[in-house]
Amino acid sequence: VEPSDGDLGGGFGSGGSTECNNRNSRDACDLIDFSDLWEDERIIDQNLRPCMQPVISDIKNLGQGSVGRIIQRFAGSTPGYNWELTDGRLAGGINAHTSQNYNSSTGTVTTTFDSYKFTNSTDLSVARTILHESIHAYLVAYFRLDPLSASQTFAQLLQDYFQLQDVNAAHHNEMTRNFVNEIAIALQEYGINKGYNLDFEFYQDMAWAGLTTTSAFQALSESVKNRINNTIQVELVGVDTNGNPQAQRGSRIGC
Ligand SMILES: [Zn+2]
Repeated sequence: VEPSDGDLGGGFGSGGSTECNNRNSRDACDLIDFSDLWEDERIIDQNLRPCMQPVISDIKNLGQGSVGRIIQRFAGSTPGYNWELTDGRLAGGINAHTSQNYNSSTGTVTTTFDSYKFTNSTDLSVARTILHESIHAYLVAYFRLDPLSASQTFAQLLQDYFQLQDVNAAHHNEMTRNFVNEIAIALQEYGINKGYNLDFEFYQDMAWAGLTTTSAFQALSESVKNRINNTIQVELVGVDTNGNPQAQRGSRIGC
């Protein structure tokens, strides 16, 4: 959902290890190994508007799947590598943007959220946005901190980057390969914690948000694409892709 800037590479690193007992995604699983390098990172979110604070606060407690574990690693309490979430105005239809610029002196990756784009958005819509951006932030930091390992784990991402010359597009392709289902699992955990009773298909559809320009999305059938686009749109703005008001599944956060 955001324009591209910056490039990949630089930094240092060494391998970490942890048990990887989760599911079918080998790369996502490898990523959890990397998270051991990040025992000391933090989420810095005091510059988010108050309307967004409850969502990030709940997301910090997600524990299932690789995305939940990535978030949990970010949420550690000691100083070190940071994920800064801040509020700011973004152009056009862009509601969040993770900078490719890793601040090596403070160890910080920064994501900007345009909360004024969330006026009619539900908590589920904001949560999926934060989860999506957390993957961007994670990939940015991984390639900066441990480029060798990152290049091995995400060889296809690197290939896409060299071919497309667009880091965000390369990230998004990687997300379609390894993170759509992981984002869905994390979002479902969030939804269950909020007391929602929704099909997993809903969460999977939501997980495609920000990825609808990828070839993996384009390859889906028209009816599935329409369903996904409508689901994303309704939670984001309260109307479907035809502009008709529709009931939202989540609760508006009141931004
Ligand atoms: Zn994105």
